[in-house]
Amino acid sequence: MELTSRQEEIVAIVKDNGPITGEQIAERLSLTRATLRPDLAILTMAGFLDARPRVGYFYTGKTGSQMLTDKVKNITVQQYQSIPVVVQESASVYDAICSMFLEDVGTLFVVDKESTLVGVLSRKDLLRTSLGKQALESIPVSIIMTRMPNITMCKKDDYIIDVAKKLIDKQIDGVPIVREVDRGSGYEVIGRVTKTNITSLLVDLSNDEII
Ligand code: ADP
Repeated sequence: MELTSRQEEIVAIVKDNGPITGEQIAERLSLTRATLRPDLAILTMAGFLDARPRVGYFYTGKTGSQMLTDKVKNITVQQYQSIPVVVQESASVYDAICSMFLEDVGTLFVVDKESTLVGVLSRKDLLRTSLGKQALESIPVSIIMTRMPNITMCKKDDYIIDVAKKLIDKQIDGVPIVREVDRGSGYEVIGRVTKTNITSLLVDLSNDEII
């Protein structure tokens, strides 16, 4: 984040004199408190300054990369998710391949009649099966999927960085976002996080589009 020269001046004043009130900063710059308000808000939001009621502003001493780390650590799955694509466990491998092309996704989630998550299908799961001699219409996805309880999942309030670590640790492309149903007897799929979501987070960070 690029600071304006006035913002740089404010940071320097707070660094040397903090804690200092907005009024006092304004005085030193020969400006009104109202004129400074947007700058102080930006500097506080960006993490350069901290404000305590009745004490004033003080310099956090955080470097740019520390502030970036803080930012990333606070982003939840909810802010970076995609719509999940599910198939029934009775669907054939042929149907699953069609869904994958039509919906343009790399991972499908498999559900039972009650819409409870029972499995995951990746591109290679389907490719591997296609190498066999059997007719793909006659093989149900339930035979080839990775099944519960071996599914890596996340909840909507989880931090995106923890999901990114799971993707790396487990060497998978995506995880379903789930919600517990019937007091933990199963999970309903409410979203998905993939490597693409993590990539768009990286792009937003580089464009400074995250507050
Ligand atoms: P691909 O197999 O196309 O490289 P992945 O790396 O995502 O795609 O999948 C690797 C294996 O892990 C597959 O067998 C797949 O069924 C399984 N898998 C994918 N996502 C998950 C998940 N969230 N939880 C558990 N297993 C998964």
